[in-house]
Amino acid sequence: MVDAERLSIHQVTLLQQCTTPQFVAALVRNSVPCTSLWREKTLEHGVEATGRLIADNGIALSGYCFGGLITSPDRDEAARARDDVRRALDEAAAIGAPCLVFVAGGVDERDRNIAAARERALEGIAKLIPHARSVGVKLALEPLHPMICATRSVLTTIKLANEWCDRLGAEDIVGIAVDTYAVWWDPEIDAGIARAGRRICSFHVSDWLADTRDLRLDRGMPGDGVIDLLGLRRKVEAAGYDGYIEFEIFSQHNWWQREPDEVIGVIRNRYGKVV
Ligand code: ZN
Repeated sequence: MVDAERLSIHQVTLLQQCTTPQFVAALVRNSVPCTSLWREKTLEHGVEATGRLIADNGIALSGYCFGGLITSPDRDEAARARDDVRRALDEAAAIGAPCLVFVAGGVDERDRNIAAARERALEGIAKLIPHARSVGVKLALEPLHPMICATRSVLTTIKLANEWCDRLGAEDIVGIAVDTYAVWWDPEIDAGIARAGRRICSFHVSDWLADTRDLRLDRGMPGDGVIDLLGLRRKVEAAGYDGYIEFEIFSQHNWWQREPDEVIGVIRNRYGKVV
């Protein structure tokens, strides 16, 4: 792929400004070749209708976001959560997404046991593998920043994601999503990326603002923060990743308040320079 063709803009970047049809129209208007779709929006517009809209407009998909949260210590709850991931995999297959971004789940107040939560996540993923294979959608394990370990993800580092992949032994259908916002701080990130190699199936970029106002919803535009994004891109590429560069910017107070064409214009301007 030549460089311009590797730009992907995650739907969440224009989450508050656009319905799915408005979002796809903005991509087309600005010649953005690829996106990753946000599950809630896809369900709101309808899975079939969304798939048609994407295909009819010739937009590629770099992912479907997200499924997971399977760490409940309650067996029935955990089983229901896995069923929901299976539905998300079906949806991803229906719209033509190559992978489902997988968010493990947090630590439950009922058992206060992070090690057990990690084991349950791993066992749960093993149970999901046959379904992922049957629909041909990869589970992209996404380590998230430890600040949201309690609520979202006990999978916190690339090193841990590699260990899980080793134990799962399903390289054909389980990969790793590298999200710069989640892992940039990790002193072992270089070794983790190198070891992940071809496991890396998804690469998400946004910046960490030095004066961040919200730990989840104040992601920065690449170039506005402290992450060496170009350096990280070079590292994932040196490890063998040659897929899309996905801009994923949750930004309640800034970018969600701007016109879609303005946001995409800034992304186009930053892409290739700072990332
Ligand atoms: Zn991400």
